[in-house]
Amino acid sequence: MDHVTTLACPLCGETYDPEQVIYTCPNHEGVTGILEVEYDYDVIDDRFDADLDGDIPDQWKYRAFLPVAEDAEIVSLGEGGTDILDAPRLGAELGVEMRIKDDGRNPTGVLKDRATSVAVTKAKAAGRDVITCASTGNAAASLGGYAARGGLDCRIFVPDDAPEGKLAQPLVYGADVLGVAGSYDEAYDLSLEVTEEFGWYNRNAAINPFQVEGKRTVGHELAEQTRDDCPDWVVFSMGDGCSIAGGWKGFREFADLDYVENTPKMLGVQAAGASAIHDTFQNHDDIAEVADTLADSIAVGRPRNTLKACTALDESGGDSVVVTDDEILAAEATLGRTEGIYAEPAGAAPIAGIRTARQEGIIEAGESVVAVVTGNGLKDAESAMRAAGEVERIDPNLGDVVERYGE
Ligand SMILES: *Cc1c(COP(=O)(O)O)cnc(C)c1O
Ligand SMILES: [Zn+2]
Repeated sequence: MDHVTTLACPLCGETYDPEQVIYTCPNHEGVTGILEVEYDYDVIDDRFDADLDGDIPDQWKYRAFLPVAEDAEIVSLGEGGTDILDAPRLGAELGVEMRIKDDGRNPTGVLKDRATSVAVTKAKAAGRDVITCASTGNAAASLGGYAARGGLDCRIFVPDDAPEGKLAQPLVYGADVLGVAGSYDEAYDLSLEVTEEFGWYNRNAAINPFQVEGKRTVGHELAEQTRDDCPDWVVFSMGDGCSIAGGWKGFREFADLDYVENTPKMLGVQAAGASAIHDTFQNHDDIAEVADTLADSIAVGRPRNTLKACTALDESGGDSVVVTDDEILAAEATLGRTEGIYAEPAGAAPIAGIRTARQEGIIEAGESVVAVVTGNGLKDAESAMRAAGEVERIDPNLGDVVERYGE
């Protein structure tokens, strides 16, 4: 990996050999010393000779940027290369020029597949045969799929109240799914203890330094796909904060290398009941470590990547907002009704966030906005029914339909 120079600790400056398996800087309590992967961009620039013509078969178009060895066997299901769609009807409702990057179209239905592909590739290259993570649901499903694809054993820890669809999916992929009677934060702590005890490879959000790096490809793609008309804003929901951090890092790299001229402002959206990153960014006195929202994928009380997420908001000149569960559900229905895009609650949260940001004067009328839909709605039918209403029951005769619609 001659394009990866070092793993650096942002707290104390200590650096580590990127070829070894290490998670966080041992000089600090717990998992606070999250290592940052640093690159030699001259090497990357030499190697990356792809046309930025918008034709993106999958994220491995950007292999030169990813922290895997040149001869590594890539574990892939075709992740990335997701479309950006114009969203004129939604834009008219929100008063902005609107586009959607639909990352719910990834192989297991979630943006996380980008990172999982990199993590499983690295686990395999390191000769590991068991991989683990803690998850609010989607990371488990994603890891299950890629572990199966790579022929690795997968053991995952999820809060036992995760939506059924998200528990069923990794079971089908053959993973051991351990439903922890507790919150995501408790499942996370348990998975760390287990990693220490057994030495399994850990894909956890934030502590695995390579995890965010895979998510940079959503930023590379956004930069490439908007090369002629960079949006004013790119909007992500935030749980642990890795997606927005990775998306920003990728976009900024393309601007630093002069592949694109401009960068957007990043808008981070959290649920009102799980708002620790927002509270930190806005300098609130009180940062409640609670996770009370039906948007399970962003139900994180103690985000592991607050620092990198705030850096993304800060460097880009962006901002953050919070939205209620009712607003998230309304946004899920609006997105489906106006544009035919089916998102889970955390995937629709950016739409609610745009509405709030318009009301607060953060986003101005007519500005151009790309919302990243991070996850597909098919996994969580229960929330979807709450968003969109119930099925009307009728008898199998014409009279019932006439009664409903008239002659
Ligand atoms: C994990 C997830 C998020 C949050 O991503 P973070 O990197 O934890 O901020 C948002 N939406 C969906 C659908 C997710 O699965
Ligand atoms: Zn350190």
